[in-house]
Amino acid sequence: MQDRWKQATQLVHAGHEKDPSGALVSPLYQSATFTFTSAEQGGRRFAGDEPGYIYTRLGNPTTSELERKVAVLEGAQAAAATASGMAAVSTALLSYLSQGDHLVASNAVYGCTYSFMTEHLPRYGVKVSLVDCKDIAAVSAAITPQTKVLFFETPVNPHLDVFDIAALTALAREHGVATVVDNTFMTPLLQQPLKLGADMVIHSATKYLNGHGDVIAGMVCGSQEMIDKAKYEVLKDFGGVLSPRDAWLILRGMKTLDVRLSRHCSSAGQIAEYLDNHPLVDKVYYPGLKTHKGHALLGKQMKQAGGVIAFELKQDLAGSIAFVNRLKLWTIAVSLGDAESLIQHPASMTHSPYSPEERQAAGITDNLLRLSVGLEDCEDLIADLAQAF
Ligand code: PLP
Repeated sequence: MQDRWKQATQLVHAGHEKDPSGALVSPLYQSATFTFTSAEQGGRRFAGDEPGYIYTRLGNPTTSELERKVAVLEGAQAAAATASGMAAVSTALLSYLSQGDHLVASNAVYGCTYSFMTEHLPRYGVKVSLVDCKDIAAVSAAITPQTKVLFFETPVNPHLDVFDIAALTALAREHGVATVVDNTFMTPLLQQPLKLGADMVIHSATKYLNGHGDVIAGMVCGSQEMIDKAKYEVLKDFGGVLSPRDAWLILRGMKTLDVRLSRHCSSAGQIAEYLDNHPLVDKVYYPGLKTHKGHALLGKQMKQAGGVIAFELKQDLAGSIAFVNRLKLWTIAVSLGDAESLIQHPASMTHSPYSPEERQAAGITDNLLRLSVGLEDCEDLIADLAQAF
């Protein structure tokens, strides 16, 4: 029945089970371990012969509620909560990849995802090819008989390129390759990659899902088989599980995701137009603008364009940095999806793991600035940009 609810209803009610005490809000199960009524029962739980909690690294009622809610929203059979978005990236990829396997990935991704793929996976004998996923022929050419996974974010952090999820998953499927999509920028409310053929979706739940800037967390969503693998083979032993307290905070944050996203998207649309018409701005990257290369996919795979904008001033690096420092209401900080509007400089901050040459190949210029539009009044945000210009 939860599958048939509208997403705003799912955000409030999905995954919730009535508490015996009558508490409206689910209690926080802040417990590391769970007791057994007998040694035999403990044995049965470890053997998987009896359902029930054992130890919070293996499962916890508060975390399970979050997992059920996010799975329903993404249209997944199951989900696993992780200690960070990076734990979600590594858990997803390690659930598929072993020594000798090959990964094809977008050449523009969040900086630490880039270093995980280019520095760490090769240490374990996984080969990685990076391509521009706008170019379907290039993705096809990169696939080899050893390729197990195609990985990309869309829209891309930081410059908001948009990739055609249905076309890429169809290509991957033809070759028996699984597709993993980082859906952090969109959330399941604006884009559902599993419905477009993806096999796994990951999130940095630090961002819009929690929405209040007070938690680091991640989610992995997919088939029951793959999520069991992620939980009981990878997370169990690598250990990057989410704390129940943080799961509880995300459950609280998610109830307002629908209303928060409408404000994020409407303000971002107005700010993108403002920047696009400003004589001191060179380029604006926002899929909601008709001039954006990915605009045709808006409506097809994304319901709205989201709350992140990137832009370049008609300035050199020093001029762009000086602009950032003149802002008074916008806060200089990495992250996105919070109530506070944030601005950052990807080349020296989120994408500093890239070498200058790699940044150039990925289209991350030295004067690119990234905005995460928050929940303040949009006129105040535009007035602050205007005084900084
Ligand atoms: N994926 C994307 C698209 C991100 O923007 C980030 C962080 O900014 C991550 C993954 C990593 O998430 P976390 O910081 O929660 O580990």
